[in-house]
Amino acid sequence: MGHKLTTEENTESTSNNDTPGRNPHTERRNVTVRRPRARPRPRNVFRTAQVNSYAPSRRTGLDTVLEYFEEEASSTTEQEKCYDPNDPTLRFVDGDDDMDFLCQDYKSRRALMSCGHSVTPMSLTNWCRHLLDKGETIFVCGQKDCNAEWSFDEVCKMALLTPEETEYFEKQLFSRVAKDYLDVKSCPGCKSSVIRTELDNLRVRCTICSADKLKPYEFCWQCLKEWKGSSQYTDRCLNDGCFNASLEVLRTCPKIKFQEVRGVSGCPSIRACPTCGMLLGHDKTKCKNIICPRCKDEFCFVCLKPSTVCKTYFTACVSGVAPRQTYIPVWNRQHMLKRLI
Ligand SMILES: [Zn+2]
Ligand SMILES: [Zn+2]
Ligand SMILES: [Zn+2]
Ligand SMILES: [Zn+2]
Ligand SMILES: [Zn+2]
Repeated sequence: MGHKLTTEENTESTSNNDTPGRNPHTERRNVTVRRPRARPRPRNVFRTAQVNSYAPSRRTGLDTVLEYFEEEASSTTEQEKCYDPNDPTLRFVDGDDDMDFLCQDYKSRRALMSCGHSVTPMSLTNWCRHLLDKGETIFVCGQKDCNAEWSFDEVCKMALLTPEETEYFEKQLFSRVAKDYLDVKSCPGCKSSVIRTELDNLRVRCTICSADKLKPYEFCWQCLKEWKGSSQYTDRCLNDGCFNASLEVLRTCPKIKFQEVRGVSGCPSIRACPTCGMLLGHDKTKCKNIICPRCKDEFCFVCLKPSTVCKTYFTACVSGVAPRQTYIPVWNRQHMLKRLI
């Protein structure tokens, strides 16, 4: 227990001003993060240690855990949950229930959340369930002018979540994060969650569909259609519209003009992080090096070598400008988990 998963904001710029022991030139660089497709990313920090507690002995791999997460959860409690009026850890108030958007007028006393808005266990449960069902992975206050984010611990405590509700909430949170970070996708044939074992192979076999159809069933990890084409392609299958948006960005992005770096020309303005493959842009200021906000590795934007290898900051690299990348590096899963959890 006690592990934390930190995820990044889907913003255009992430500041790296809190990394001690880094090269002083790169410490305060703003890194522009380009994502080829906009998709909602979790922003908050919450517990993932429940991964283990969810694996009953008969289940072993993560795939079975995920499958378990995706089972329908029946977690509604009929009875109204009420605060214990003698609970000294709660701050009670009179008046409206700020999260009671359906005007259910719950019986419980109202208590204050950390942001100062009042809730009852039922109104808070309903609000947070609504957020989860919308695909959110952070719990934000429902009041218009309040941007407060509540921790999962606070929600558990203040919503008096039952064990079933807690399980449902954790399942929802975990399966979403897992989908974002663990390279899990739904098989187009049977919709079950599939985890890719060969990270650089787009052609993925679904064991469930293969067993059902009594012949190998393979789909394309990129276009999520049944695999088309006879051999393995590294960047696409033969289905129409199957292409790698990131490679397209790398191929076509304009060249960068550094403000303070001398003697470098023809360097593309977007690079895939050599460690994790995240697309990054350089803000043109200061030195050539950048720190990837996802994997935290520092590399030279021009020659793509680790800064410790390139060792030049404001002048041309010894090995010159690395050509446009035609391959997106894949993050080693062990490495990724170590950094994220
Ligand atoms: Zn609030
Ligand atoms: Zn399938
Ligand atoms: Zn494809
Ligand atoms: Zn990286
Ligand atoms: Zn370099």
